[in-house]
This record gives sequence, structure tokens and C-alpha cells, in this order.
Amino acid sequence: MPVRNDQRQPKTPASCPICHMHDAFVNTRVRIADALIYKCKECSGYFLFPPKIVEYTDSGWTSRREADWQQDVQIAKDLAPRIIECTSAHLGRPVQKIIEIGCGSAFMGMGFTSLACRYTGIDVDAKSVEFAKSQGIDAHCIALEDIGASTSPIVGKYDLVLSSNVFEHLDDPSRAFANLRLICNGIVVIVVPNARGLYGILRSHKICSKAIQWVLGTKREIAYSIDGYWHNIAYTSQTLEYLCAKAGIEVTEIKPMSINDPVFGFVQPNRTLSYRLASAVAALLKMDSEIVLIGKLNS
Ligand SMILES: [Zn+2]
Repeated sequence: MPVRNDQRQPKTPASCPICHMHDAFVNTRVRIADALIYKCKECSGYFLFPPKIVEYTDSGWTSRREADWQQDVQIAKDLAPRIIECTSAHLGRPVQKIIEIGCGSAFMGMGFTSLACRYTGIDVDAKSVEFAKSQGIDAHCIALEDIGASTSPIVGKYDLVLSSNVFEHLDDPSRAFANLRLICNGIVVIVVPNARGLYGILRSHKICSKAIQWVLGTKREIAYSIDGYWHNIAYTSQTLEYLCAKAGIEVTEIKPMSINDPVFGFVQPNRTLSYRLASAVAALLKMDSEIVLIGKLNS
């Protein structure tokens, strides 16, 4: 379970956790879970300070995925051919070797291996990785930030590096983006919540936030897709462009996306009518709840 940080934290942030820049941020005055959200002027990202420490193993995520395994595998078998088609078109040759960052139970591996692709998954949740291995999937318990270490089990390069709803959980996005160079010789697809999504913005206003909590019957606080529970940081399209430029990744496409996207919406799709209607409004305003980045890395 997430735990509150040590009270000895300094009162103001020393640097942006996303781009590491010092003194380049503004206090948005939006308070979530007894901490404040700052906006970075350098990378256009958002971050919570003090951050919450999140413990992923035993978080309850794995047991939900285990319970839904058959359903998840079906989703993977439906979506994997579309992902391969889309990313192969970007790559200019067939995608054959895939690594998924933050694979969880690695159900997507079942979809990709059914297409004769080679799949590897990494995740920081040891229990999810154990479960994936028990299903015969090549999975490893390691963070993307640690992939450059001499003890890293990940060697060689992949045609496709895929990650959905994971980068907002990272401790050090700058290092993670730099490490993509070590494992990618092709296409990078990263899906993250959109800090400038319609509901992220609406919920940054106190009265709107209270009204949305009342309608949804939830006490969950969230603004700019930061929730003080799982997400300490949030990205805008500009943040992703900034990190790609810094890491030498060529951006081929970057756009707002619904979590029900027919190609990349595999982590937490929500097919309810009310959600689809709300998504349609957000899409009209180009303020969808997610952003998809497609980048290219050639060694
Ligand atoms: Zn920054």
C-alpha cells in the first residue's frame, strides 16, 4: 500500500522529478492528498510534492489481473494484430521482437506470441512477474531505470518497445527515456494519462472536483491525472516531446487518445455508455484522457 513520505522532506521541491531542472516550476496551488501539484516550466510536466511512495507488489493489481486472465488474453489476441500492423507500418518492416515495459501479468505476451512474435515483459511487481512466468511468458522483475546495470537480464535490442499507463509511475523518466536507447532498435510506443485531459483540468478546480466526486460517488482526489495514490507525475504532449528530444528519439506521432483506443487501449478500457459519451466530449475538445507517443530509434 502507498505510505506517506518521511516528514523530514524539505518544504519545497529542489528539482523537477521529470526533467531534473532546478527552480523552473510553479506551484499550481492545487492540493491532492496533503501535497501540492507543481507545473514545470522546462518540460511542461506536472508533479506532486512531497511525492507519495508507492509499493506495487501486493497492491491488489495482480490478483485482479489473475482473476481476469482469460478475458485479458482475449483482449490481447484481438489487439496484438492491430498493434503489429500499426507499428510495422511505422517501422517499415515487420515487427518481430517486442518488449513491454510495465507488463503486469503480461497478458499481451499471449497475443504477440500467438502471432509468432518474440515477447519479453518487465515489471517492478514481483508477484505479477511470477504469475507471467507461470504462464510460460518471458518476464523479468526490473525497472526501466535499472536496465543499463551490468546485472540486467535484458540484453539485445527490440523492434518494438511498448508501454501503456506505466511511465506516470516512474521514479526517473529522464533516465528511463535515455535507457530506451539501450533496448530499442525500432519503434517506441508510450501511452500515458494526459495531464491536460478534460477531467484532469476540470478536477483541478475545487468546485468541479467536488461535483464530479459527488456524481461518481467517489472520494478519490485527482487533478492533472495526479492522484496522490499511484501517480506522482503527469505528462503533457510537450513533456513527451521534450523527453524524446533529450534522449534522441525521433517523434513520428503524438496525439491525445481515449483509453478505448482500438489499437493501443489495452490496459484499462472502459466501454460503459457514460464513459464513451464523456470521452466523445473530451475528444471533440482534443482533451482525451490519454496521450500516445510513437517514436523511432535507430542505432
Ligand atoms: Zn520538468
